[in-house]
Amino acid sequence: MRTPRLSATTGLALLTAAWTTLPTGPLQAQTTRTPRSAAQAKPTALESGVDKLAASPAVVAAMQAIQKDNAWTLDQQASICEIPAPPFKETQRAAAYAQRLRQLGVQNVRTDSEGNVIGEIRGTRPGPTLLLAGHLDTVFPEGTDVSVKREGTKLIGPGIGDDCRGLAVVLVVAKQIITQKIPFNGRLLVVGNVGEEGPGNLRGVRALFNKTLKDSIDLFISVDGTGIGITNGGVGSNRYRVHYKGPGGHSYGAFGMPNPIHAMGRAIAKIADLEASTKPKVTFNVGIVTGGTSVNSIPFEAAMDIDLRSESAAALAEIDARLQKTLRDALAEEKARWPNSKAALSLVIDTIGIRPAGTTPDSTFIVRAALASARSMNLYAPLTTSSTDANVPMNLGIPAVTLDGGGVGRGAHSLDESYDDRTDGYKGPQWVLLVTLALLTQR
Ligand SMILES: [Zn+2]
Repeated sequence: MRTPRLSATTGLALLTAAWTTLPTGPLQAQTTRTPRSAAQAKPTALESGVDKLAASPAVVAAMQAIQKDNAWTLDQQASICEIPAPPFKETQRAAAYAQRLRQLGVQNVRTDSEGNVIGEIRGTRPGPTLLLAGHLDTVFPEGTDVSVKREGTKLIGPGIGDDCRGLAVVLVVAKQIITQKIPFNGRLLVVGNVGEEGPGNLRGVRALFNKTLKDSIDLFISVDGTGIGITNGGVGSNRYRVHYKGPGGHSYGAFGMPNPIHAMGRAIAKIADLEASTKPKVTFNVGIVTGGTSVNSIPFEAAMDIDLRSESAAALAEIDARLQKTLRDALAEEKARWPNSKAALSLVIDTIGIRPAGTTPDSTFIVRAALASARSMNLYAPLTTSSTDANVPMNLGIPAVTLDGGGVGRGAHSLDESYDDRTDGYKGPQWVLLVTLALLTQR
């Protein structure tokens, strides 16, 4: 999923000044961008090109079909969602997704060694390779009831927005490009990837860029999230499980030896006082603490899970170095507290997740094309920073964004997650289609 959405300190500050359409929602009052009125603004060459593209007969037909066949998109979304896809167990959903891509006429549909489903649509002329993906995995464990309920325009079920919406949008975009025979340059790869959520640690997209499709992807779009928005800043994270270990003993009888929980307490106090910059934003968190066996035992182990994040790779590396020093200092202080004890005290740091940070600058073609497409459809699409599959290509310097898939999502990662299509959910896939085609025709 893409979280957090617009936070007061980062997301809004990233809102572009390039907008020609004004937001109609509550965001309007909070933004600091410099609005241009649509009447005054002279379209850029790219904006004019996208307007022309949107007015071409095949694209108009595709846009109309997406609206008219909206029920098909929602059926795909709901039925994909009813196939369980726990972390590392996406096989069943992957097989079904591959089958659906084949039925639409997507070529060369295959599954790579990591479990990603990849299909191709070839353009009529040479050009770039664009990878358009939704993620197959959910956060929900095996045995979760994944049935989808419908209440009017609302679909309710675990994973219905994150990322069954994205998977359905990728399908409908592929369907329309094929059925309307829309001409484009290069190659469109349509993908259902594994391992986006926490435990998967972006393993699917890592495999695509480092192995399966290494050096062959020019542009990357992940469809993940609801509403209309562009994620072009990737928040990186380093996550650790830190253990302090000693022999342990009776609280009275063995008193006088280093205590792992005391050592960890020293470490937590230091972590709590770490300085963290706000620009670029850097965060730290001790999220889970465990350890000890009884009130009258010196524990033999204490452990904690720590999360560090930043949109800047350099800032993340910097706070990471300070954290490591803090953990070692706490160990040394607890040992020094009991200089006469022969009991050992050790520190073990396990890495439980590393997500690379990266940014696709606002000035890049992929971001400008996404903005121009929103402008052409009279949609407001803010630029935001988040942690998504796009982090991987961003970190490699490959132009990448994560686009929202329309509608309104609530309660991602909860059992009562919902997706409300309201009256204009179809504009999500329409927009993603236009962005895809802009990238494959306008340069
Ligand atoms: Zn997601």
